[in-house]
Amino acid sequence: MSPGEIYLGIDIGGTKTNIGLVDTKGTVLAQRRIPTSTNAHCQSAEQDLQSIIQGTQELITELNSKPTIRSIGIGVPGTVDRSLGEVVFAPNLNWRHVPIRDFFAKTFDLPICVGQDTEAAAWGEFLFGAGRDMRDIACITIGTGIGCGLVIGGQLYKGRFGTAGEIGHTMVEKAGLACNCGRSGCAEAYASGTAILKRFREAVQAGQKSSLLQHMELDKITTRDIFSGAKAHDLLSEAVIKDAVEYLSMALTNLVNLMCPEAVILSGGISQQRELFVNPLIEQTYARMYSVLVDKVKITTAELGTNAPLIGAAMLCKDPSYQGSMGKEGKS
Ligand SMILES: [Zn+2]
Repeated sequence: MSPGEIYLGIDIGGTKTNIGLVDTKGTVLAQRRIPTSTNAHCQSAEQDLQSIIQGTQELITELNSKPTIRSIGIGVPGTVDRSLGEVVFAPNLNWRHVPIRDFFAKTFDLPICVGQDTEAAAWGEFLFGAGRDMRDIACITIGTGIGCGLVIGGQLYKGRFGTAGEIGHTMVEKAGLACNCGRSGCAEAYASGTAILKRFREAVQAGQKSSLLQHMELDKITTRDIFSGAKAHDLLSEAVIKDAVEYLSMALTNLVNLMCPEAVILSGGISQQRELFVNPLIEQTYARMYSVLVDKVKITTAELGTNAPLIGAAMLCKDPSYQGSMGKEGKS
C-alpha cells in the first residue's frame, strides 16, 4: 500500500449502514450512517443499495481533496457468495440472492469485495486492532447474534462453502433450546443478546420473580436492562447472564481446542460488559481449554470498537483470499 491511498468501506447493518473512507493506517477519514430498511425483499434491497450509493457519493464530495479510491469493500450480516459478490441470505435484512457487487459496479469502476460483517470485523482487528502482528486469530462478535471471523495464516478463512466461523451454531447442549437457524442446542440460543432477553422473559412468564419488574413492564425490558439488573443483584438477571457466559465459554473452548489460534478477540455490544460477561467468560474458557494452550492463547477484547466491521470491510480487497472475487481485479 502506498501513502495517500483511500479505501471505501461499507458496513450494512440490520438497522443502519455505516459508510466510511479509510486510509492505509486504518484511520477513518470521513464517515456517515444511514438507515437500512429491513421489511421487504429484493425491491427494497435495490432501494437500500441505491441510497447507500448516494450516501457514498455525498461522502466523497464532502472530502476537500478529491481522493483516489482504490477499492470498495462491503460487509453484510449474512451468508455471502464472495466469488459472485452476492448476498445469498441475510435474515435480518430479509435479503436473498442480492447481487450486490454487480449493483455497485454500475456506478463504481473499482475492485469490489463483498463479505460477511463478522469476517470484516476480524480482518479489521487483524490489520489494525487487537490481532495486529499475529497470524491466526478468531474474532467473535457477541451482539444480537453470535458470529465469528477467522484469520488463518494471515488470510480470512471461510471454508469450501463460505460459512466457516459459525460459532453461534456450534452445539453446546443435547436436545437444547431452539435456535433461529432451525436446529437446537446452539450457543447462540443461550448466549446472544436476543437469547438473554428471551430467556429472561420466558422465566418471568413461567412465574420467576425479578426486581426489574418493580419499575418496568416485561415487554419494555431490553438486554441492557438485564445487565443493569444483574449489577443491582437481581437474581433472575444474574442467573440468565451466568448461564449465557457458561454456554459461550463451552463454544469458545471448542473453538480454541480445534483451531489453536494466537488470540480470540471478543467484540460486539455484549463485549462491553466487562465484569458481568467478559471477565467470567475469559476465566471459564481458560479453565476449560486444553491445558497446553492456557498460557499461550490470548483472549482479549477488540480495539476498533463499533468501527471494526467498517475498517475491515474497507480493506477486504487486500485479503489474499479475495483474489479472483472482486469483479474487476485490483492492481495492487
Ligand atoms: Zn443455530
